[in-house]
Amino acid sequence: MRADFSPPEMPEGAEALRGEVRAFLADALRDVPLSERALSWDACNPDFSRRMGEAGYIGLGFPEEYGGGGRSQLERFVVLEECLAAGAPTGFHWFADRQSGPLILRYGSEELKRRIIPHICRGELCFCIGMSEPDSGSDLASLRTRATRTASGWRVNGTKIWTTNAHRAHYMIALFRTGEGQRRNEGLSQFLVDLRNTPGIRIAPIRDIAGREHFNEVHFEDALLAEDALIGVENEGWKQVTEELALERSGPERYLSCQALFNEMLLVLGEREAGGSAAAAVGRIVAQLGALRAMSLSVAAMLESGESPALEAAMVKDMGTRFEQSLPRLAQEIVDLPPDGGEEAHPYQQALHLMTVLAPSFSLRGGSGEILRGIIARGLGLR
Ligand SMILES: Cc1cc2nc3c(=O)[nH]c(=O)nc-3n(C[C@H](O)[C@H](O)[C@H](O)COP(=O)(O)OP(=O)(O)OC[C@H]3O[C@@H](n4cnc5c(N)ncnc54)[C@H](O)[C@@H]3O)c2cc1C
Repeated sequence: MRADFSPPEMPEGAEALRGEVRAFLADALRDVPLSERALSWDACNPDFSRRMGEAGYIGLGFPEEYGGGGRSQLERFVVLEECLAAGAPTGFHWFADRQSGPLILRYGSEELKRRIIPHICRGELCFCIGMSEPDSGSDLASLRTRATRTASGWRVNGTKIWTTNAHRAHYMIALFRTGEGQRRNEGLSQFLVDLRNTPGIRIAPIRDIAGREHFNEVHFEDALLAEDALIGVENEGWKQVTEELALERSGPERYLSCQALFNEMLLVLGEREAGGSAAAAVGRIVAQLGALRAMSLSVAAMLESGESPALEAAMVKDMGTRFEQSLPRLAQEIVDLPPDGGEEAHPYQQALHLMTVLAPSFSLRGGSGEILRGIIARGLGLR
């Protein structure tokens, strides 16, 4: 097997859409400080998400009958790219738009689609992803949180960890153990958990190195879910979750997380007497960006044609996160301004400080580099 990164042809309306989104963002982000824009898709701003929804930029690729835009994955790619380049705080709607919405559209009942998808498109719903557990991160198939059938639904016991946005989310898409199988990835199922209206769920924040509380531990203590909380086929959650991970790993957010910082660095550089070595270093970064963009775009085209490009997505995630992790260090080599988190520091230095401490997590979130390289080696027939 080989990885296929054929360059796609962009749909006719894509560049016009880019112009519209750019104008929308210039207006909507006028007062958003660099400290928030530097966090990019990690920063949550419900008001901004609502504006994105009103403008029709959430669920762009979802069917129109559920409130979506009915457009292609490649046009959606353009919107994401513009949001990331501008440092738009998309975190409130990001998971719903990227993976929870598509999962519900593919595996949810008709009733569920009609109940949930239009609200996602309006930017009203925040979702979180309940995969990781304290004793099974990379080894996801070893998870132990169990959903047991009751007369009227499911009883859940166990703990999820590192759950981004659980404290502000309306729903979690969770992977629980529902049965036994010969292999550990059998007997797993996906559920829609209503976090606001389910007794028996306790959410405890975890503070990261930058002092932010964005991910959590989520404890299920005899939490009761309705019968129809199950999404898709009972005990076939592994296939569903693998497809979901392809959506999670291939997008431009896997190499543009530091883009607002990079853009600011170019502005700062422009104010100084930058030598030829700075220009060469910037050129190298832009060349890498171009290659990653081409790879990510071709994955978007494969998703558009209904394929599930797990191998190519893993390659984009591994190469992309290594690239974006290198940016804070490269920025320090290019511009002689050290990171500084102090209140008096230049906004660029504050943003550089933030990205320097957060960048190590980029290669963990969404699946760690070592695991992805294992998937890539297997996909290429090397092991
Ligand atoms: C910012 C952030 C946000 C996150 N958000 C979410 C979320 O919303 N929902 C969610 O479910 N999870 C989330 N995660 C969890 C993330 O997916 C896990 O951290 C990741 O899967 C790694 O699991 P772990 O932390 O348990 O590390 P471990 O699995 O303990 O791994 C530790 C190290 O050992 C390496 N390693 C492990 N096994 C092997 C192996 N077999 N061979 C070689 N090396 C190996 C890993 O690559 C890693 O470097 C988030 C993580 C971060 C950092």
